[in-house]
Amino acid sequence: MSIDRKKAFSTRSIHTGEPADPSTQAVEPSLVLSTNFVFDPDSADFSAETLNEKTPNVYARWSSPTVRALEVKLADLEDGEDALCFASGMGAIAALILGTLHSGDHLVLSDVCYAGVAELARNTLPGFGIEVTTANFSDLASVTAAVRPNTRMIWAESPCNPILRLTDIAAVSEIAHSAGAQLTVDSTMATPVATKPLALGADFVVHSLTKYLNGHGDALGGAVIGRREALAKLRQVALVHFGGVLSPFNAWLIRRGLHTLELRMRAHADNASRVASYLESHPAIKRVIYPGLPSHPQYALAQRQMRNASGMLTFQTKEDGAEVARRLYRKLQVFTYAVSLGKQRSLLFYIPTKDILESSFSLQGAALKSYKDFAGDGIFRVSIGLEDPEDLRADLDQALSGE
Ligand SMILES: *Cc1c(COP(=O)(O)O)cnc(C)c1O
Repeated sequence: MSIDRKKAFSTRSIHTGEPADPSTQAVEPSLVLSTNFVFDPDSADFSAETLNEKTPNVYARWSSPTVRALEVKLADLEDGEDALCFASGMGAIAALILGTLHSGDHLVLSDVCYAGVAELARNTLPGFGIEVTTANFSDLASVTAAVRPNTRMIWAESPCNPILRLTDIAAVSEIAHSAGAQLTVDSTMATPVATKPLALGADFVVHSLTKYLNGHGDALGGAVIGRREALAKLRQVALVHFGGVLSPFNAWLIRRGLHTLELRMRAHADNASRVASYLESHPAIKRVIYPGLPSHPQYALAQRQMRNASGMLTFQTKEDGAEVARRLYRKLQVFTYAVSLGKQRSLLFYIPTKDILESSFSLQGAALKSYKDFAGDGIFRVSIGLEDPEDLRADLDQALSGE
């Protein structure tokens, strides 16, 4: 499937990997659920170690057409050579880390990142002999100080979940490469509409496809995008053998979601910027963090690195957050009080700082102070959906005021 990278993002998001079906003439791709495929006995053998681009489809844990078409599209949209899909974002992340690092290697991880990654790194990786050091990725000196002679991978997330702190990807990629390490960027919150980490020097990009890329909250999925050779190795080690493959049905849904990615991201960002400005001027609100607002502490970096400020924001209330959370849960009608993000419906929930700091991140000393300086105590994490912005504003207005 050839890729014409001169075409615009929205054109590629629709057309790449989706030729008309030669056997049925169907314009929209068929969903291939089959777990096995007829093959010529001279064309394949039975070891994942000899898998290559010419290997035909044999068994769906190795490769299958609907999932492969999504991989081709994702590689195109991130300007990468190839992509691998997994059953969830965490499936992709665990596969990349465990399929790339070995006992004795060292990983430098953002001290605030997706809680599942923080817990995997802190609780599970040391058992495999992989050492982990966390650093504040908005501070380049902190990242540099965490690097050791055995550092093999640096892991950034920008904007980071949940506080929307940014990482200067080009600068951190220089730190990684001068240390002989590879840089991975979890770009779930940014999406390729906003940021192309590979073009800024990253070696791998990971996505939870569950979020914006699918965009409709009805399929889990994950992906790793990067260089062809590295991903061919990862397919053998961490996809075929770990086995966490994406279901073709989910691949088919995510592919369809991608058709409208750019359009949706424009609307998410437009809505989020209106809601953020409204909240910033609301008397009950203490602080709003949104990369598209000039008040974001790294606004200049956001302007440079994000073509779209995305649909995530956080806010803090003057009144006790836990109290406000109960009221919002009871009174909100358009927003849903729920976790996850990046879908058509607006979502919010309250994260007490104490919980997340003690359980997932275990921040102390300077790292704790830096978190609190940035995000304060207790935040509402909001994923702004595609509803009418005036209805979103009115819903927050009625829920924030009153009993
Ligand atoms: C949700 C999320 C993940 C995990 O993805 P799943 O699909 O839920 O496994 C990883 N990173 C970030 C930034 C996320 O938001």
